[in-house]
Amino acid sequence: MTTAVKYIYRFNEGNAGMRDLLGGKGANLCEMAGLGLPVPPGFVISTDTCREYYRLDRKLPDGLMDSVRREMAVIEAAVGRRFGDPAAPMLVSVRSGSKFSMPGMMDTILNLGLTAETLPGFAQATGDRRFALDSYRRFLQLFGKVALYLDPEPFEKILHEARQAHGAASDAELDERALEVVVEQFERYVKSGPHPFPDDPWKQLELSVRAVFDSWNNARATAYREYQGISHDLGTAVSIMAMVFGNSGWDSGTGVCFTRDPATGVRELYGEYLANAQGEDVVSGARTPRPIAELATEMPASHAELLRYCQNLETVFHDAQDIEFTIEHGKLYVLQTRSAKRTAQAAVKMAVDMTDEGLITKADAILRVPPSDLTQLLVPLFDDEAKQRALADGRVLGTGLNASPGAATGRAVFDSATAVELGSEVILVRPETSPDDMPGILRAAAVLTSRGGRTSHAAVVTRGIGKPAVVGCSVLHVDVERKQMSVNGMTINEGDDISIDGFTGEVFAGRIDTIPPDISNNDELRRLLEWADETRRLAVRANADTPADAAQARAFGAHGIGLCRTEHMFFQADRMPFVQRMLMSAGHVAKLEKDIRDAGLALQQAGGVNAELAGHVKEAESALHKDAEALGYREALAKLEEYQTADFIGILRSMDGLPVVIRLLDAPLHEFLPPLEDLAEEATNARSSGASASDVAEKEHLVEEAKKLRESNPMLGHRGSRLGLTYPAIYEMQVRAIIAATRSLKEERLDPRPEIMMPLVMGKAELVSLRTRLEQIAVQMGQSLGHDGIPFGTMIELPRAALVAGDLAEQADFFSFGSNDLTQMTFGFSRDDAEEKFLGFYLEQGLLPQNPFATIDEAGVGRLISIASQEGRASNPGLELGLCGEHGGDPQSIAFCHSVGLDYVSCSPLRVPVARLAAAAAALGEHQRDV
Ligand code: ADP
Ligand code: MG
Ligand code: MG
Repeated sequence: MTTAVKYIYRFNEGNAGMRDLLGGKGANLCEMAGLGLPVPPGFVISTDTCREYYRLDRKLPDGLMDSVRREMAVIEAAVGRRFGDPAAPMLVSVRSGSKFSMPGMMDTILNLGLTAETLPGFAQATGDRRFALDSYRRFLQLFGKVALYLDPEPFEKILHEARQAHGAASDAELDERALEVVVEQFERYVKSGPHPFPDDPWKQLELSVRAVFDSWNNARATAYREYQGISHDLGTAVSIMAMVFGNSGWDSGTGVCFTRDPATGVRELYGEYLANAQGEDVVSGARTPRPIAELATEMPASHAELLRYCQNLETVFHDAQDIEFTIEHGKLYVLQTRSAKRTAQAAVKMAVDMTDEGLITKADAILRVPPSDLTQLLVPLFDDEAKQRALADGRVLGTGLNASPGAATGRAVFDSATAVELGSEVILVRPETSPDDMPGILRAAAVLTSRGGRTSHAAVVTRGIGKPAVVGCSVLHVDVERKQMSVNGMTINEGDDISIDGFTGEVFAGRIDTIPPDISNNDELRRLLEWADETRRLAVRANADTPADAAQARAFGAHGIGLCRTEHMFFQADRMPFVQRMLMSAGHVAKLEKDIRDAGLALQQAGGVNAELAGHVKEAESALHKDAEALGYREALAKLEEYQTADFIGILRSMDGLPVVIRLLDAPLHEFLPPLEDLAEEATNARSSGASASDVAEKEHLVEEAKKLRESNPMLGHRGSRLGLTYPAIYEMQVRAIIAATRSLKEERLDPRPEIMMPLVMGKAELVSLRTRLEQIAVQMGQSLGHDGIPFGTMIELPRAALVAGDLAEQADFFSFGSNDLTQMTFGFSRDDAEEKFLGFYLEQGLLPQNPFATIDEAGVGRLISIASQEGRASNPGLELGLCGEHGGDPQSIAFCHSVGLDYVSCSPLRVPVARLAAAAAALGEHQRDV
């Protein structure tokens, strides 16, 4: 048996560094006592003891209560009263508090030591029977609820009736007689429950300690820990300290104050207090508390003293504090301090201000702000006046879950196709979304669903791409068939304006003007990010496909584009017909070209002098030239080249002077083709409506071609570089467009810096073939690929590519890890299917530690990245290494990228500030716990 276990620490034995053992509340009480702040005397039972309690299957360790008795004697000596003394009892509070702040989740009992027996003596000693009764009824109420597990409702009911009977607006106005009755009723109630109510204060103390330990595992606390990712094994400490009484008259009171405004970060005392009140009265809402500024006139000495302590505590803790205080007959006590919770805006301002004040270093400031919180500052907001007007006009249709922050306004559409057609000024409304809705989600300004929770498809996807969403707004009846939704007898049709607030979950009828995210006038954020830039080693680029996105990314501090996807340029409605014509004829044309090559080869083998073979060549060539389809194909290609050149001019101009990695066409073919059924229907219609024979033939031909292009598994099919190799004209056209765009900008004396990237490469031979062919195009245009020309590189998004990276690096100037596909290919499941069908289950069951699409799977995918980086660099020391994919905006993944020595991460424009800060934090060697 262990003997000399130390369960208890007096306030003068601990300090702020002992949170693990004493809990945050206990450790900070010790620290404040040590600083000489007016903290009532007390001691802390350690979290070790709590763990031991659970190990013993909810039994207090032997000897604990003996130690408690000894420590109570120390408090008694300091206060000059004795616990349980009928003449003048000392009262204590028994408070919970764990390593991480879990506000309001666990329990605390106040005024312990008041019993039927000690009440008269307490009234006598304080000279105030009303106050004694008030304290006693508070004790009965808290003890009943917390230690005897009684339903708290009857207590409130009794108080409510007493207030009504006496015409009292609040409990503070109940007089002595009224309280006598309340106490009597409370006593009867606590004795009526299933658990016996002990009269002995020592027994009550023991039950209270157990109750606080038990509250570690109540449903609220458990759920809170789940949500915050806090371990269930930590346990709570118990602080026991002498009571001070804010309810002892109108020269007394209790309050909460922040050393800086937790919403804005402004350095001024912020908070509330209530006179003649105790404990949770301030937050309970029963009486309206007064702003802390009024304390300056009400009790100026206490206010001044409080201000001093605030400054003192900030200096000691190097952070803004959230402080509980109580005033008893004009004497101030500090009962708790902890670092203040704050909004993202406040976090940034506090960090920068405190650096300026010399309270913390720049490095501290960088580590103070959770990088992901910055996204709160980077989304569109409602114009405040416009929103207030909408509220005043009663335009709120309902409130759902605030799934993804940001405000949006636009026309309601009820299907993905219409969203794609109408573009970004729409809000996609669905009962719930599925991967089929992705095109619409990507195009729409925001998403609204009537079903689903915070982890529904709509919620997860929109958060991932930083698009506002409200989900599960169940009052809405969404009728997809009739393209409308109704709520309270009101109907919103397709095309009607609606607005949603992703911060609050509110849904409005009509427009509410929004203001775009803009950090240019946020001085503190700008400075914090500048410090981050000085600190980080990883560069931050953006994934951007349009000049507008590129400009946004640049404004947020992106140092170039790490991924410009060209397929998005192909998707635009006006270009689609050309894309389709090109793709559907590419096979046919490739075959004609092959005939020419074969004929040429035969001629060559015959020594080049065979007239018959020469004739074949001519025939094949003229067949290609005369072929109507080939003609249409060439026209389509030429048209697309024009479009692409303009696209590249736009994006390279936006990123002038900075690298732009352009990935050649990647998307699975089926995404470009109209559905086979539609084509077939058109052909049938043409036939039956007596269209011309050639018309019918063309339509039928389209059906045949579309059938040939169909794949059973397009994700793993004819896409990426495979397409580029089999239909070479497409990539050749793209490279010509890139070079033409570059040339045209150089003529304007700009500094375009394109880099050309191959998608979905699996091995060196592919890269050699692609590079040789594209190099020829470049040379024809007076350019070259590689070091002195346009850098040529490859994505690494297949496990095989990662494993043969040494070979690939011989042919590549850079690698970019396409971590989305690399994750899918490594795990062998698609993101959409996984997130919709089974990922939730896997996470819940602990079959996966976290969502590998949100945070890089270091053990598997990360290992591939690390192997490819090392082996790539070994064979090509100048190889540049980057990561594009959503992980590029995730702080934990960024820390990983830093640790394996990548040169840059590339993320969505809105995540760029997050990535800059996270990269700096990584450089400071801090493990980011970003909850
Ligand atoms: P929580 O962690 O939920 O805030 P606390 O343990 O801080 O719970 O206590 C609840 C309330 O009781 C707080 O307002 C606190 O200031 C007050 N309180 C706790 N101990 C004492 C005490 N010894 N004297 C006066 N008020 C106290
Ligand atoms: Mg508290
Ligand atoms: Mg890919």
